[in-house]
Amino acid sequence: MENNTTIKTHKYRLYPTKPQEAAMFETLRLTRQLYNAALEQRISAYKKQGKTVTGYDQQKELTALKEACPEFEAVYSHVLQEPFERLDKTYRSFFARVKRGEKAGFPRFKPAQRWNSFKFKEVWDKKKGRWLTPGRPTDDGKRINIPKIGSVKCKFHRPLEGTPKTLQILHECGEWYAVYTCEVPKNPLTPTGSSVGVDVGTTWFAITSDGEFVENPRHLKTGLRKLRVQQRTVARRKKGSNRRKKAVKLVAKNHQKIRRQRLDFHHKTARRLVNEHDVIAHEDLKVSNMVKSNLARSISDVGWSQFFDILSLKAESAARKVIRVNPMYTSQTCHQCGHRSKESRLSQSRFKCVNCGHEDNADLNAARNILQAGARPSGVNDSEVMHVVA
Ligand SMILES: [Zn+2]
Repeated sequence: MENNTTIKTHKYRLYPTKPQEAAMFETLRLTRQLYNAALEQRISAYKKQGKTVTGYDQQKELTALKEACPEFEAVYSHVLQEPFERLDKTYRSFFARVKRGEKAGFPRFKPAQRWNSFKFKEVWDKKKGRWLTPGRPTDDGKRINIPKIGSVKCKFHRPLEGTPKTLQILHECGEWYAVYTCEVPKNPLTPTGSSVGVDVGTTWFAITSDGEFVENPRHLKTGLRKLRVQQRTVARRKKGSNRRKKAVKLVAKNHQKIRRQRLDFHHKTARRLVNEHDVIAHEDLKVSNMVKSNLARSISDVGWSQFFDILSLKAESAARKVIRVNPMYTSQTCHQCGHRSKESRLSQSRFKCVNCGHEDNADLNAARNILQAGARPSGVNDSEVMHVVA
């Protein structure tokens, strides 16, 4: 079935009063307690009786829990269900990693610094006969009515689009945020007749088969340099000292700024690609992780996977196509004659075919191969076309 909606997230800064903030911290504390208790229960049930307890089993115990520990009454009931779902998800991805033969750490207990959000989801409103997400903006667009927390001041720097499905309250670097995920109708763009291959690198953010070199923005580079200096300062200062704590705070603040700038850059770059091309082919990062694993790559991969996620969401909503291509040999194959040889790759940046003598920038050659692999109809060579997001 053709799905004509897509998911969009909106993040807004919250300005809670002192009592509201206290209630939010208390919700964080209780939901984290619940998560850890649920994990504990699963582990011990398994150890004692070899029994598997599911999130569903555990949710059924909530009523009894509230009677035994009335403090949980202070938290909206659906918010209390979410930790179980989060734990289910953690378990699922743990077993998936085990199954794929990857290194997998068993689900761990969450310390306070690793638990920074709680979530509201849609509920069925019997009286109104429809689904409602708690925590809608107020009519004047200045506040959000968060159940059990209060009417919290919020800065809607851009309007909320679509139908909210979930609302997450997030505590990040001492600031509070409301994150809505909304269902938005798709907005198909007129076809341009153009296809493009995108290669990601460490020197450039991306290179397109059209010969465009997309650079990381200057402010991002400056920010990263500053971050390294700040991190060295932290390392130099004495553990437990106030000066160190101050430096740690600065690092966190800068981290947040960089995250925001990178996100913005990813959105803009993806928007441009989606506007200009009907089909966008890029390497499949999951596969390339297995093919070429080195530390520098896996670190930058984090950024790229965010970019590719944004790209496929935008493409989906615009009815464009994103194709993930097996990156195997894309950097060793000559785009001109198809000859594959390790020797053709002269250096990180130069490519010279040992067969036909074709010379090119190595990344550009790779981007052109990616485009070609993406254009190949699937079925002809299934192993090369990994996954199609239509
Ligand atoms: Zn060649």
